[in-house]
Amino acid sequence: MTHRVAVLDKDDCQPRKCGLECVKYCPVNKTGSDCIALEEDGDAKARIDEDLCNGCGICVKVCPFDAITVVNLAAEMAAEKVHQYGPNSFRLYRLPSPRKGEVVGLIGRNGTGKSTIVNILSGSLRPNLGRYGEGEGPGWDEVVRRYAGTETGAHFEAVRDGRARASIKPQQVRGIASAFGGTGAELVERYDERGRGGELMEELGLAGAAAGRRLGEMSGGELQRTAVAAAAARDADYYFFDEPSSYNDAFQRAAVARVIRGLAAEGKSVMVVEHDMTLLDYLSDRVDVLYGEPAAYGIASGVMSTKVGINAFLDGYLPAENVRFRDRRAALGATSSQAGGGGDQFGAADEALSYGALKKSYPGFSLEVGAGAVRKGEVVGVVGANSLGKTTMMKMLAGVEEPGPGSDPVRKAASISYKPQYLRGDSDATVAALLDGAAGAPVEGSLKEEQVVDHMGVKRLYERPLSGLSGGELQKVAVCACLLRDAGAYALDEPSAFMDVEDRIALARFVQKFARSHGRAVVIIDHDVQLVDLVSDSMVVFGGEPGKSGRASPPMPKSGAMNAFLGSLGMTFRRDERSGRPRVNKAGSRLDKEQKRAGRYYYRD
Ligand code: ADP
Ligand code: ADP
Ligand code: MG
Repeated sequence: MTHRVAVLDKDDCQPRKCGLECVKYCPVNKTGSDCIALEEDGDAKARIDEDLCNGCGICVKVCPFDAITVVNLAAEMAAEKVHQYGPNSFRLYRLPSPRKGEVVGLIGRNGTGKSTIVNILSGSLRPNLGRYGEGEGPGWDEVVRRYAGTETGAHFEAVRDGRARASIKPQQVRGIASAFGGTGAELVERYDERGRGGELMEELGLAGAAAGRRLGEMSGGELQRTAVAAAAARDADYYFFDEPSSYNDAFQRAAVARVIRGLAAEGKSVMVVEHDMTLLDYLSDRVDVLYGEPAAYGIASGVMSTKVGINAFLDGYLPAENVRFRDRRAALGATSSQAGGGGDQFGAADEALSYGALKKSYPGFSLEVGAGAVRKGEVVGVVGANSLGKTTMMKMLAGVEEPGPGSDPVRKAASISYKPQYLRGDSDATVAALLDGAAGAPVEGSLKEEQVVDHMGVKRLYERPLSGLSGGELQKVAVCACLLRDAGAYALDEPSAFMDVEDRIALARFVQKFARSHGRAVVIIDHDVQLVDLVSDSMVVFGGEPGKSGRASPPMPKSGAMNAFLGSLGMTFRRDERSGRPRVNKAGSRLDKEQKRAGRYYYRD
């Protein structure tokens, strides 16, 4: 017996533009039943009766807009349903439970219910146990009874009795800026129930000019850290941080991690949703993997040790449940990049791009770039704090910005295709039109589609206007467009921004394969240390004083560069003994102390 999940994407369902294929071809409808019909009210979208549906999947195939998802889950799952937003909409199965004095990390694709979990456990959303109809949902007493005898039950009891004080850093920080007109210092002060506001702002690098800025005038990173400070300043038992790393550089992420770990050290229960694996690894005592089908359903795996959980996530396989949730071939191997990397297949004569020492200055800011070269088949990672000139360097290489006086020339063996950091999504052009333009020919059904688009998972977005994409979708489309252009070298500025963890893994695997198999050079700026480590053969490390002066090293061998960069972050990496994957050591752990003493921040091969 199975439990049927039929989900309709209400935006994609367009009954006025299609031939009602789902209704026409449904074999159950043909027997005279009403398995799929149009709703009689409102927008008249399709409605699928999950009790009548036999799971044949014909509607899924015939829908021209890919609006339908039908999944068969094991029958037992029906009893584990925690919440469903409405008919034919997203549902969540199982819940992780918070643990006192620990950080529980939630990891999983976008749209698998992480924010829903945060809202439920914080008491902002009462789980309806699947009874979504008006007035049908359970009260807190029933919710408590349903989970009686479990940690989750005890938690809900505290929520019901008003004993579970919760503090949340919401996923979207822009909303805070529109709701609060004051400065960062004022916001933190308002929530400073523990007298720690000043200290927190200091730790998060907000003590200077940023504190006096109005939220609406802050950079994304400043706003994010202000929101983290405000949430951590509250006096609560449960703390939830939904994606605290967005917009922050690696140093700022490390500071956020220290603040969050500090709460657990004080005995608080903390839960963190995060796509940056280094941060999640560093932060979490335990992790819970969310898997399922984005926007259709999500299942919480149950908490595991961080080590087991992260490996399970990267393997795409949960040993305890014997569930494979990602194709084996898409799993992330031990390390994609051996020292020297693919560049070794090509001689020095195979330089795709070389540049002399470059200089550039803006009022109040100056940048110096050490000369270097990138070979065919090589991926160069670029790391450093915000406002040190990484984007400026990439623009000079890509020919978007003129190098300043005193610079040596940028010599290009080939043209460069560039993906800028900030993307414009305000166009009504379709994704297909953008990709066709980049490839110089229709992409659908082409070899390039197979070589590039398939790997980035944007095919189902072809008909969407750019203005209708989420941040993560727009990012994937922009990366695709960049890689579809014919060029000898490719420059990607912060491609992981807004991408979920699964997309980041796909990106790391694909960019490397793309460089190797086509002999292309790639330069990639990113703040996700694990991503940069996985994808690059060599690295450019930025130093200097943010917003004042920046210095870029020439491309350096990866192990030396990682050692220097991790040293400046105060983090150490080891190899996981089972999977061989790079892992970050917990601050103050035995290995962390040993490696720091030896100056060995990065593992040696
Ligand atoms: P995540 O945080 O993992 O990205 P969310 O919990 O935000 O996932 O959302 C899971 C799914 O539930 C998404 O498809 C989202 O569109 C849907 N969803 C979230 N909130 C609501 C709501 N209030 N009504 C209907 N659907 C919702
Ligand atoms: P990063 O990519 O490392 O964050 P950027 O290259 O974007 O750094 O910026 C480095 C510094 O140069 C910042 O202080 C920024 O404000 C300044 N800057 C960048 N572009 C310009 C410009 N066109 N005019 C004036 N200042 C600029
Ligand atoms: Mg979310």
